[in-house]
Amino acid sequence: MKIKNIHIIINPAAGRGETILPVINASLKEAGIKWEATITHQTGDATRLAKAAVQEGVDLLAVYGGDGTLREAISGLIGSDIPLFILPGGSANVMATELGIPGNLKDACLLLGRGALVTKIIDVGQFDTHYFITRISLGFEADVVKNTHRRDKNKIGIFAYFFSTLAALKKIKKTVYHLKIDGQEHKIQGLTCIITNTGNLGFSQISFDKHIDVSDGLLDVIVVRKANLNLFKLMAITLFKRERPDNLELVEHWQGKSISVSSSSKQTIQCDGELLKTASLKIKIIPGAIKILVPENKDSAQ
Ligand SMILES: [Mg+2]
Repeated sequence: MKIKNIHIIINPAAGRGETILPVINASLKEAGIKWEATITHQTGDATRLAKAAVQEGVDLLAVYGGDGTLREAISGLIGSDIPLFILPGGSANVMATELGIPGNLKDACLLLGRGALVTKIIDVGQFDTHYFITRISLGFEADVVKNTHRRDKNKIGIFAYFFSTLAALKKIKKTVYHLKIDGQEHKIQGLTCIITNTGNLGFSQISFDKHIDVSDGLLDVIVVRKANLNLFKLMAITLFKRERPDNLELVEHWQGKSISVSSSSKQTIQCDGELLKTASLKIKIIPGAIKILVPENKDSAQ
């Protein structure tokens, strides 16, 4: 597809501390693409800037940042026909990874310059008046995100997440989740509940379940019931085979369009990497909410 006019929203605090503008300029100038950029300074800016770009009427909105910046931009883009492109700039770029978009800025810019892209229509999650693009989690998984400080993210990138996992494991506590999925009630004990749009956790393209699809109009609800040696074995098998074998004693999995969740004891809750101060959530999926440009050939973009 031919793109002539791009607006780029840049989050300069996204976490990598890398050179941004010369890299973008080199690829896009050579490709004859006209581009302009605006910078975010605080929460909410990417939504506002995306709305302004929609009004201006550009061919494409690109976002440099992590999943948080992306979520904000998408909030300003929903309802328009303008496609989005992700220039991965965060320490964990879950949505970019999910869609096979190259993990570094230069490769993503070259891909954009070459125009070897196709449109993929993806779902977006919603709770209250907010949107989310990757996942909402309660408990253990949210503690992992919480314990990964921006300082660590800058220094050691995704490895910070693994260190956080170790810290969170020491403090692990079970609770009872009260779930209502498309009208069906479930009461289940576990240590984390994940309501997800995407299948990967941002480290690699390996999905924790290959049936999770960002375009199927469904959210996936996963409850991990226990953390023991068998869970680590299950994870190892999943990574090796790229498919998670059923083990309902350890992991429960549902799909649905409308989900409410609360826990019997207070837990950390995160959404796209940001902490939420709420005790219960009503979540739904907006099928086909946004268009994102992805590599024509997902495998060749790695
Ligand atoms: Mg889905």
